Amino acid sequence: MDTRLNNTGKIVEDRYFPFGIVFLVAGKILEMSDPSAMGKKLGFYAITVVFGLVLHGLFILPAMYFFITKKSPIVYIRGILQALLIALATSSSSATLPITFKCLLENNHIDRRIIRFVLPVGATINMDGTALYEAVAAIFIAQVNNYELDFGQIITISITATAASIGAAGIPQAGLVTMVIVLTSVGLPTDDITLIIAVDWALDRFRTMVNVMGDALATGIMAHICRKDFMKEGDGVPLICETKTAMSTPPVMNCHTNNGNCRPPPLGVKHQFIPPEVAQLIQLEEGVRPLSDRKKPPIPPRHLKKSKEHCTIDMNGLETNV
Ligand code: ASP
Repeated sequence: MDTRLNNTGKIVEDRYFPFGIVFLVAGKILEMSDPSAMGKKLGFYAITVVFGLVLHGLFILPAMYFFITKKSPIVYIRGILQALLIALATSSSSATLPITFKCLLENNHIDRRIIRFVLPVGATINMDGTALYEAVAAIFIAQVNNYELDFGQIITISITATAASIGAAGIPQAGLVTMVIVLTSVGLPTDDITLIIAVDWALDRFRTMVNVMGDALATGIMAHICRKDFMKEGDGVPLICETKTAMSTPPVMNCHTNNGNCRPPPLGVKHQFIPPEVAQLIQLEEGVRPLSDRKKPPIPPRHLKKSKEHCTIDMNGLETNV
């Protein structure tokens, strides 16, 4: 097979790929005693996978989101529609990752720190759609071979399908490769994977949508669970916390005198060592706003109460660990 690079740097070997698939499927069809019956079975298999994905994506995942967060999953899912469409078009949850990130940040207003952690982990290991499809495909291959599965084998298929979906990459048809693990776990013939190749390109799109939806809803659930620890500035949590000293700033003017005039700090007050952005916020809080206008001091989140040594300040999206 030709593996030279063409002038765009792409390996020319991939031009043979469609022909290879056609011959693989054609070989399987020729082996069949009744290809039309097999086509019917394949149709039912595809319908079963799509039905399972619809049930999981439209009912089970949104219900989990609703019961944990007590918020409307419809509003949340509307925010990620663009990501779901990209997943449908690309069949790759990894390729969809930047769009999912953008949707969660801009439409669903999830804290970027939570998205940054949960979403890449989810896109790599959380593949509900792939797990569902692999389990159905293994049972289909068993039925085609007239192989009776007992209860223990069905449990084995469920566990290995989950494990195989964790191992699958977020790229098109990766689930087809990890199917081998599921089939060998219950002693089914691995070369029967070629039976389902014909419909896999379509099923892959739907299961990728469910994978992306699962990641996005999991991020929303995590954001809800950690909401107190990840409150943003203006949400009632101060940005200022006790920090390690960084640089010197002059003492703050005192504007809370009886006549309302500002006066310089008393002589002998030493320079405080605080970072400039924190100093700016203190000045805004102490110097500009009149006392009557000031809100009650907000309650700091639990983690800031316990540890005053370390905190994170998010300045226009630029995170700084202090
Ligand atoms: N294409 C799927 C994804 O990217 C993986 C698979 O099931 O093949 O999420």
